[in-house]
Amino acid sequence: MAVDEALRQLLLLARAAPLTACEQVALRQADGRVLAEDLRAAIDLPPWDNSAMDGYALRFDDLQAQPLPVTQTVFAGEAPGPLQAGTCARVFTGAPVPAGADCVQLQENCEVDAQGRVSSLTPLRRGANIRLQGNEIRAGAPLLAAGTVLKPIALGVLASQGITQVPVVRRPRVALLSSGDELAGEGATLGLGQIHDSNRVVLRALLERLGCEVIDLGCVPDEPALLRAALVGVQGVELIITSAGVSVGDADCIGALLRESGDVQLWKLAIKPGKPLTFGHVGGVPLLGLPGNPGSALVTFLLLARPYLLARMGVERVEPMRVPVVAGFAWPKAGKRQEYLRVRLDGGRARLLENQSSATLLSAVQAHGLLEVPAGETFEAGDVLDFISFDGLVG
Ligand code: AMP
Ligand code: MG
Repeated sequence: MAVDEALRQLLLLARAAPLTACEQVALRQADGRVLAEDLRAAIDLPPWDNSAMDGYALRFDDLQAQPLPVTQTVFAGEAPGPLQAGTCARVFTGAPVPAGADCVQLQENCEVDAQGRVSSLTPLRRGANIRLQGNEIRAGAPLLAAGTVLKPIALGVLASQGITQVPVVRRPRVALLSSGDELAGEGATLGLGQIHDSNRVVLRALLERLGCEVIDLGCVPDEPALLRAALVGVQGVELIITSAGVSVGDADCIGALLRESGDVQLWKLAIKPGKPLTFGHVGGVPLLGLPGNPGSALVTFLLLARPYLLARMGVERVEPMRVPVVAGFAWPKAGKRQEYLRVRLDGGRARLLENQSSATLLSAVQAHGLLEVPAGETFEAGDVLDFISFDGLVG
């Protein structure tokens, strides 16, 4: 199954089961959360006409009557009186422009005579250097749409509106389990054949950064009865994510469990790394079985699990952003599967990291992101391909 088709199916399921529960959180706790309702502007922004510069506010029509005496000084935060005709006001950036003034001349373009009267030295147009009330947004206009992921800039937009409490989608609860006889307990010294569990650590952090609450089910051996005991009866979660136990060598423990429930939705993706990936339900709870190799678990999480969870939260654009980059190397041999290569961007060119093994995380930590090579395609150095940056994906 092509990656796009698997994603399409997963998103269809996710959109059909949106997380509707919502909660109010303080703005300072809303970073990374998903907005649950459409919000409209509460106030005009700017709330009043204000000066964009340090200078002098005046009436355009008084420019013929220069020099103009200064009749008031307005600092940001002060409320000015109306501007008397034939005078100007000393104003600073962000200060309200006195009623009657319709332009601001920059202080460096003004000459102040011995009597303190001001002349403008350069031409000025009506409205110059005034930020008009409501220019950014009018009260009542759409501000942010439901499904917006609240990142620092969005939080700033809300703060500028005086919004202190935000309705957000409840955190999705995700149960996380690593399967594998080879996984040693946390902190244990490795016996022959054993490895430390890194997938659960990576996946937990990725999930938490997505705003999920993680229910850690620990490590479970490749033993159908034990897996069943761990997974059947997990309730109150939106998703179960497992790693490993989906390939033939594992006697396909996770797949077997899903088949018991009569429902395995995906199997064998045309993706490299990450071919063995399963989706199904246990006890009515969706389960996404990621492959065990750390590189495969990472890529399938980013390309499939992450969009699925974002879609459940009502986020519109769920796929990682792709940007075109120039390949700094050739790819002469076409693969059967869509391939995700670990690359670094040096001088705007993608450089292939030496170790592309799905078993290693070290080259993934050195990579800036993934170069997407469609199945069946080759390329030359200098060709342009889609790049998925790790920046932002994990935030
Ligand atoms: P599997 O999908 O079970 O065939 O596992 C593929 C590879 O990933 C094997 O080399 C496993 O030892 C390794 N692996 C499985 N689970 C984990 C894990 N939780 N952390 C790190 N490596 C793992
Ligand atoms: Mg295994």
